[in-house]
Amino acid sequence: MVVSRRAVLGAAALGIAGLAGCTVAGAATGPSTGPPTGPPTGPAAAPGMPDQPPPDWEGLRSRLTGALVLPGDPGYDTARLSHNTLFDGRRPAAVAACANPSDVQACLEFARGAGVPVAARSGGHSYAGYSVPDGGLVIDVAGMAGVEIAPDGSATIGAGARLGDVCAAVGGAGRALPAGSCPSVGVAGLTLGGGIGVLTRAYGLTCDRLVSARVVTPDSTLRTVSEREDPDLFWALRGGGGGNAAVVTSFTFATEAAPTVTVFSLRFPAGAAADVLPAWQAWASAAPDELWSTCALSSGSPPGARIAGSFLGGESACRDQLAGLLAGVPAPTSQVVSTKDYLAAMRWFAGSSDRETFVASSRVLPAPLPDPAALVALLDRPRGIAVLLDTLGGAAGRVDPAATAFPHRTAFASAQVYASAAGDPAPPTTAVAEVRDGLGALTGTTGYVNYIDPGMPDWAEAYYGANLPRLRETVARYDPDRVLAFPQSADA
Ligand SMILES: Cc1cc2nc3c(=O)[nH]c(=O)nc-3n(C[C@H](O)[C@H](O)[C@H](O)COP(=O)(O)OP(=O)(O)OC[C@H]3O[C@@H](n4cnc5c(N)ncnc54)[C@H](O)[C@@H]3O)c2cc1C
Repeated sequence: MVVSRRAVLGAAALGIAGLAGCTVAGAATGPSTGPPTGPPTGPAAAPGMPDQPPPDWEGLRSRLTGALVLPGDPGYDTARLSHNTLFDGRRPAAVAACANPSDVQACLEFARGAGVPVAARSGGHSYAGYSVPDGGLVIDVAGMAGVEIAPDGSATIGAGARLGDVCAAVGGAGRALPAGSCPSVGVAGLTLGGGIGVLTRAYGLTCDRLVSARVVTPDSTLRTVSEREDPDLFWALRGGGGGNAAVVTSFTFATEAAPTVTVFSLRFPAGAAADVLPAWQAWASAAPDELWSTCALSSGSPPGARIAGSFLGGESACRDQLAGLLAGVPAPTSQVVSTKDYLAAMRWFAGSSDRETFVASSRVLPAPLPDPAALVALLDRPRGIAVLLDTLGGAAGRVDPAATAFPHRTAFASAQVYASAAGDPAPPTTAVAEVRDGLGALTGTTGYVNYIDPGMPDWAEAYYGANLPRLRETVARYDPDRVLAFPQSADA
């Protein structure tokens, strides 16, 4: 039985108590050290400004190795789509299928000159559709998706690679990279926001494995960034969220030897959330690094719950760990405990790549909720809302909160608030906001940038916390003209 996170969310949102479980001319070429120097070149000319000629899309098309897809071109109505069908109404002015970093340099120079809104797209899974700006230019890097594993085990991955392909290539080489498990998610958006997954407690966030990245900054300079080269930008790429300060063309990660993973899932009788949540919190907050788990709560009267997770080790050791939990929860209606190799375990959590229609938001629990009943009460409502609690901490918790832009280092768990909007003429935005704000009263102003929510109150503080001032300063230094600006860009 596959226990994909998508299935977890879908099942929980549907209130199913249990489970039934990823040279361009003018542009600086060659190595560059340090942020752009000299005064900003003044505000980018806005289209339609009286003295601004219409963007020369054919000119851009002629400079690209990859294709430029314009409205009316074959494939435009597919190329403009995101993962979330809620954004199917978006009509970008053009989609550039970039084949190499030079194409990205050309696109950024073009957008800067023409004053056209521009955004990079990797997997197109932005919760707010920010990778497809209406009337703007999409820099699509899906064509740069290679995965190369070096003899030292490090993995150089094109920014357009999807998690499923990354996992297959890295696992196929006997290595492992902590990342999300939904196969269609892009490695770029995921890594830039941090990257939470079933191996986070054992190996850290995805961004914690980053050694260096090749990027194009808004001044069209191609750079290698690392702890030694443009260290502030490298800091911002680790948790500062996608779309800020630069377009990444490839990442180099340090990987681990692929582990043996025991996966597990527990179903409970309907309406068990009030009993399961406190026991899970106590158990999960005392877990060893090898143990990661998720507790999915589903709305209903009363709300439901189920648990799934991974343990780096064999079945008997995993069962020893589970014994502590099982002693405190209602008897599960079903239980799966199965030992697998890394690749099979990641596929067990994977699920489908189909597009979906959903509304979501998030909070981050600094610690186990002192009054878990308050969260259960928030879900005592009609079915359709899920809260997915994923444990953090472990290796991810041992990184200094100021060492990367990802601020939630000492947190206990992320909390995703999710509702399917499939077939719903009125997306359940209000219901999700109510649970988000109710949970915010319990957690404080916190949120996970990779579950980005346009309606999140105080979003910058929530997503970046104490790292916000440095992030804003860094983004402003590398993108003084705000070429990459979007409604929730860190410098907004
Ligand atoms: C089904 C599903 C499952 C998920 N599972 C997980 C999970 O397990 N763990 C987790 O942490 N998150 C998870 N997420 C959240 C996911 O990490 C974010 O939605 C992420 O932003 C998606 O990245 P993307 O590249 O697919 O999306 P995109 O829409 O392509 O990009 C997201 C943002 O990053 C920017 N961006 C994209 N490419 C680049 C680039 N090359 N350089 C600079 N900026 C860029 C975009 O402009 C946009 O602002 C999941 C999301 C979905 C929809």
